Amino acid sequence: MNLSYWEYKTWLSNIDFTIVGSGIVGLNCAYYLSKKYPKAKILILEKGTLPQGASTKNAGFACFGSISEIVSDLKSHSKEEVLELVRSRWEGIQLLRNTLGDSKMDFQQHGGHELFLKESSELYNECSESLNDVNSLLKTVYGEDAYYFHPNAFGFNKIHNQYLSNRFEAQINTGTMMNSLLSLVRRSGVSILNSVGVTSFDDGQGTVKVCTNQFEFESGKLIIATNGFANQLLDQKVKPARAQVLITKPINNLQIKGTFHLDKGFYYFRNIENRILLGGGRNLDFETEETSEFGHTELIQNRLDTMLHEIILPNTDFEIEHRWSGIMGIGNKKRPIVKQLSDNLICGVRLGGMGIAIGSLVGKKLADLT
Ligand SMILES: Cc1cc2nc3c(=O)[nH]c(=O)nc-3n(C[C@H](O)[C@H](O)[C@H](O)COP(=O)(O)OP(=O)(O)OC[C@H]3O[C@@H](n4cnc5c(N)ncnc54)[C@H](O)[C@@H]3O)c2cc1C
Repeated sequence: MNLSYWEYKTWLSNIDFTIVGSGIVGLNCAYYLSKKYPKAKILILEKGTLPQGASTKNAGFACFGSISEIVSDLKSHSKEEVLELVRSRWEGIQLLRNTLGDSKMDFQQHGGHELFLKESSELYNECSESLNDVNSLLKTVYGEDAYYFHPNAFGFNKIHNQYLSNRFEAQINTGTMMNSLLSLVRRSGVSILNSVGVTSFDDGQGTVKVCTNQFEFESGKLIIATNGFANQLLDQKVKPARAQVLITKPINNLQIKGTFHLDKGFYYFRNIENRILLGGGRNLDFETEETSEFGHTELIQNRLDTMLHEIILPNTDFEIEHRWSGIMGIGNKKRPIVKQLSDNLICGVRLGGMGIAIGSLVGKKLADLT
């Protein structure tokens, strides 16, 4: 695109920091940079008309790890590592709450519950037996016993009679959270240009040349916060992982309230007002879902429909209103990649399925690295 002198001068010259990606990480990074360097010129480039990855597509669980996840992690990580993972999620949520305020994201702490299918008795028993140990391990994070047995009060079908629940888990409104974050960042003087995709960059001496699908310019530092799309610009160990979701139309007299994990977390659902939002099923076809293309498949959507009919709402009439997908960034480790790649290049990617919990912290850490 042939930009004018005014356009270059106003929007694209003397840029101190350019952030690629306006998800929760990119926005938090911009916010903390603006606090650290009040006079700096900070620019966010976002390829979507709205943020177009995971941060506006997710389920809005403010969660720290269901019990089966913790039990499984303890088999492949040390106790200290697991403690650290849970602590980072806990601290990340507190940071997000402090940054925005609970009302700006409709934070509601109804608790979270892990449900175990009847055929998963072995896992259920293993998790039940580990409950006390897990509570002791995580007491320094939560301050009290977080996990407990909860009766099947919502009448789910085909599951064990007790949930293993976490009293601190909460839910947010993902849309208002991201909208508030965008407003906060704009108010902090950061400029956000949408529909601009970064295609490549040249990490030269002193500055970085940034090439986009519309124009080129120089930036003091470049910060990549593109999560599941990271490999389009960087050589890091991040794979895209698509996650499919659906939401019902409003349901009369819906009693279900809270966040729910099912089948080792491969499925998750919650109420949002008087609707049910349900996602998951990547485990049915990992290969097809390892993609950065949005879309849904019959295989997974049919499974989600069946779960609603048979397990979640067995005695309730409902209709599906809407289906969508989002792209996560995952890898063989649960930790995000937050690192300085050269003097002027930093990345914060691979947020996995917990980016709401850790996104603020990762954004802040990126700003701290400058
Ligand atoms: C369906 C679903 C459900 C989830 N549920 C939860 C949940 O309940 N709780 C939880 O904690 N986490 C959940 N997650 C994970 C969480 O949403 C993510 O970990 C988090 O949003 C990642 O934030 P991010 O800023 O790193 O990435 P993103 O939000 O993906 O942001 C990256 C941005 O970079 C932009 N971009 C990419 N490439 C370029 C480029 N070349 N040029 C310009 N812009 C570019 C993208 O358009 C995107 O907006 C879920 C994810 C999905 C998909």
